[in-house]
Amino acid sequence: MKEFGSKKSSKKIGLILIFSLVILIAAYLAYNLFLIQSPVVENIEAFNILSADKAITLNGKNLKSIDISINQGAKKVSLLKDAPIAKEKTYTLQIKPKDLNLMDGSATVIIDVKAGIFKKVKHEINSIIDTTPPLLEILNTPEFVNHGSSGFAILKAKDADSVFIKLEEYIFKAFKTISETGSGTSNYFVFFSAPFNTKGGSVFYAVAYDAAGNKNIKSLPTKLKAEKFKISTLNIDDAFVNRVVSPLLNETNISDPVSAFKKVNEDLRESNLKKLIEIGQKSEPKILWEGPFLQLKNSKVMALYGDRRTYLYKEKPISHSVHLGYDLASTEHAMVGAANSGIVRFAGDLGIYGNTIIIDHGLGLMSLYGHLSTIIVKEGQSVKKEEIIAKTGSTGLAGGDHLHFGILMHGYEVTPLPWWDAHWIKVNILDYLKQ
Ligand SMILES: [Zn+2]
Repeated sequence: MKEFGSKKSSKKIGLILIFSLVILIAAYLAYNLFLIQSPVVENIEAFNILSADKAITLNGKNLKSIDISINQGAKKVSLLKDAPIAKEKTYTLQIKPKDLNLMDGSATVIIDVKAGIFKKVKHEINSIIDTTPPLLEILNTPEFVNHGSSGFAILKAKDADSVFIKLEEYIFKAFKTISETGSGTSNYFVFFSAPFNTKGGSVFYAVAYDAAGNKNIKSLPTKLKAEKFKISTLNIDDAFVNRVVSPLLNETNISDPVSAFKKVNEDLRESNLKKLIEIGQKSEPKILWEGPFLQLKNSKVMALYGDRRTYLYKEKPISHSVHLGYDLASTEHAMVGAANSGIVRFAGDLGIYGNTIIIDHGLGLMSLYGHLSTIIVKEGQSVKKEEIIAKTGSTGLAGGDHLHFGILMHGYEVTPLPWWDAHWIKVNILDYLKQ
């Protein structure tokens, strides 16, 4: 009886075990089927084009395993194999097709991801491998560019997606002009400059990128020539702060004139300069101007480009700035004509510049008219050289009625001086265009 009993109870235990196992398996399957989320890999479209050296960052979610390989003909190269524990994981792959013995041409990237026994996803991406950098040639460039001045270059590139000149962190976009049919080769015009705060000895580079991200870079023979700028001091008193500074801050009762002046001269100036760069990127892809730029009629030059100014309050220096245009004084509320033909890109209030007009002359070149009392033109309007656009005034950070005239190169202020000079324009731009 005893033996029979123990046989019976062991059979019972066995049944319970099998039953538990079935429950467990069912629970595991149900968990895999209903509770585990599908695996996700973000940014796989980065595999569409592979350049000579490409960094791809992928973001994986709910992954139990990930397996990425690239296939070309009979060749299969593994790019990544992992079984992450974390719910989310970021992978950065540095892919150099030549090091992997892959050829330029088409390939297939296969991404296998699993999140559980039922949640599997396979991506097959048709990929183009292009490791050939775009051809880049410098056709014309000036021998030197003065600090604060402008330059014009003609570049030639093949299969390029973006072409520009670079100096330190400054980028000057090149515009496609003449294209040879069918060859993928184009000439590019680029206006560039040596902004006042770049270092002497810095090198200009021509840079071309293709659609895959391959880069060609060549240093320009153009030298950056140092220029001496004027140093001047200006006195700031309470009357000036109350009359000029307080309206710019929208504050009626200024208790600390020094910090109020600094707020306008430093913070507001900085945000206004950022706005100029933003406007400077919206230029027409063709030359809209002709001949030398015009200076305000019957005007006297009151301040030059590049003047290093120190502001004194009760004889103590409180703030600094660099004057980035020419101050031209004529009679009060004198008529202002467009310095050259173009399209009005900005017309309105611009902080320290007061009522301002910016005219786009194309290819990143613009002219700026500040401290105006009256604006006659509207944004988007085409204007002809000499056409009356405004009247001078003293809006913004101005002591008296004058015109602040500036030239912008891709939004960075440069000296207007050469742009008034027919000879400079002929030698540095028009003669290049003839070649
Ligand atoms: Zn000025």
